[in-house]
Amino acid sequence: MFLKIKNKQIGVHFKNRFTLFNNIKYAFKLNINTFSFFLGNPLSWNKKINNSDIYKFKYYLNKYNIKTDYIVPHSSYLINLCSSNIFNLIKSIKLFIKEINLCYELDIKFINFHLGSNDLRNININKCIDNVINILNNIINKTKKVILVIENSAGQDNAIGNNIIDISKIINNIDNKSRIGLCIDTCHAFAAGYDLRTLNKCDDFFLYINKIIGLNFLKVIHLNGSIYKYFSKLDKHSMLLKNNFLGYAVYYWIMTNNLFNNKPIILETPNSLKWIEELSWLYSI
Ligand SMILES: [Zn+2]
Repeated sequence: MFLKIKNKQIGVHFKNRFTLFNNIKYAFKLNINTFSFFLGNPLSWNKKINNSDIYKFKYYLNKYNIKTDYIVPHSSYLINLCSSNIFNLIKSIKLFIKEINLCYELDIKFINFHLGSNDLRNININKCIDNVINILNNIINKTKKVILVIENSAGQDNAIGNNIIDISKIINNIDNKSRIGLCIDTCHAFAAGYDLRTLNKCDDFFLYINKIIGLNFLKVIHLNGSIYKYFSKLDKHSMLLKNNFLGYAVYYWIMTNNLFNNKPIILETPNSLKWIEELSWLYSI
């Protein structure tokens, strides 16, 4: 087991575990306070979560003394808030609201989501961003408390959110600023053309975010390696210490920076057998 010698909250994303309370048991086994999971099958429109699931989730949180402050569920892969297909867009909004309400019931502070993609490639990016701003403002009005955390994308398949400027336009135009946040995924940023291979470049990147959005909106970090080279626009995570074109500077930068104290830092690396090794390595930095 690793030693938590720094004031950092590092955890992992439980990709294949769809039973709410099992995630808690597994987090306890791994000795982590922060983690991410899907609120049911991420490839199904039907979320079947009943009261007994909610009860068990809360029971195990209490039993293992895990707080919800650093738990950041990941929304469904099906949600596309930029879809030009109206049926798909309505389904996406409904499902997203359902997931936010579930987080509220579970006393969870954050939900992490992707903006989606300009799927039919027939609307201009600025129009797309305006639509998303309206949609998010409406969703925020219809739900309570949970902070909607936008994750930057790698830019593949016309995904919106690879450009930090686009995300800044969205965040800056959300009426209720207490309900919106940003998640930076290191693999996606690198794939989208933000070089993070030296400490100076990391400085530049986060100063840039501070300038156009404000680092107070940065709520969550996804710490991943990249299987593909710089500016590939491909979203394929590698382990931190193997087959990683991103290098190690960004991990040093994050682990030694007070800015990330007590913020959820979540690994979405592909090999769960390497998690303990990766967590130990990060805490040893
Ligand atoms: Zn991510």
